[in-house]
Amino acid sequence: MLQQTQVITVIPYYLRFLQRFPDINSLALAPLDEVLALWSGLGYYARGRNLHQAAQLIVSHHGGEFPRDLAAIQQLPGIGHSTAAAIAVFAYGGHCAILDGNVKRVFARCFGIDGYPGERKTETLLWQMAEQLLPREKIQGQIESYTQALMDLGATICTRSKPQCAACPLQPDCVAFREKRIDKLPTAKPRKPLPQKETVLLLLLWRGEILLEKRPPTGIWGGLWCLPEMPLGENAAAYCARHFDLRAHPLPELPPLDHSFTHFKLRIYPQPLQVVTHTLAARENGAIWLTFEDALGAAIPTPVRKLLLPIYNKVCL
Ligand code: SF4
Repeated sequence: MLQQTQVITVIPYYLRFLQRFPDINSLALAPLDEVLALWSGLGYYARGRNLHQAAQLIVSHHGGEFPRDLAAIQQLPGIGHSTAAAIAVFAYGGHCAILDGNVKRVFARCFGIDGYPGERKTETLLWQMAEQLLPREKIQGQIESYTQALMDLGATICTRSKPQCAACPLQPDCVAFREKRIDKLPTAKPRKPLPQKETVLLLLLWRGEILLEKRPPTGIWGGLWCLPEMPLGENAAAYCARHFDLRAHPLPELPPLDHSFTHFKLRIYPQPLQVVTHTLAARENGAIWLTFEDALGAAIPTPVRKLLLPIYNKVCL
């Protein structure tokens, strides 16, 4: 949950999640829909899907016990090298090197390493460094303290902006401090403007209910319930007749909604339609009619929530 998301945002989600899924088995047995519903609003839904899948793999391949071996932990969906190493260190005292974003920053500054840490060459160098710096002797509790100290140093002292060098134990040896290059290290990501995409989301209204469609399991909003999507420039009524076998009158368009993903920006044109007749049963072909209340409680992405809430509160339409 904390990947790309701040602690303060995560806490209520984390507590609700643990209350519903207190152990691996309960998570593995739950339907994905329920997992994603508890994730709804947190974004980056691949994390929720991976977590669910990981729980199922632990049950089917590891007898319900979280694996201890670094390679086995890393095989679980959604767990990269550094996260697997951190789990191995803190849960089992494994002698493994970590390299999260904060640690990369500390190493890049302290050892004066140029190059964007996301590039393979720089990252390989940083990993080598992380391995070499591991405490040699295996004294009980030492690897945990070392790893925690490294993470804390990056999170609280050697912060991205305004690092507290005066309080830093690495200051006497720090290359960036000595050479006054703190603001230059680590090297920033080469900038590329995010591509802009556009789409139409259809708000099909039928006797106080709205039509939602299940997204394919991968891709953006994978596995979530979403408003039907239509390519820009299509005739909404004709599209609905073709795809959902229903008759509907377009209502006045709502203002566009902008949403940013990590790799692109999306401009959504919401098109409400009043359904006159339809033949779609309550749940058919991955589509479902839901009351607004139920829709808002389902696993829906944030922009869909933003579109449904004002209608539910009768602010618009
Ligand atoms: S001296 Fe400053 S720049 Fe260097 S590691 Fe410490 S906090 Fe970071």
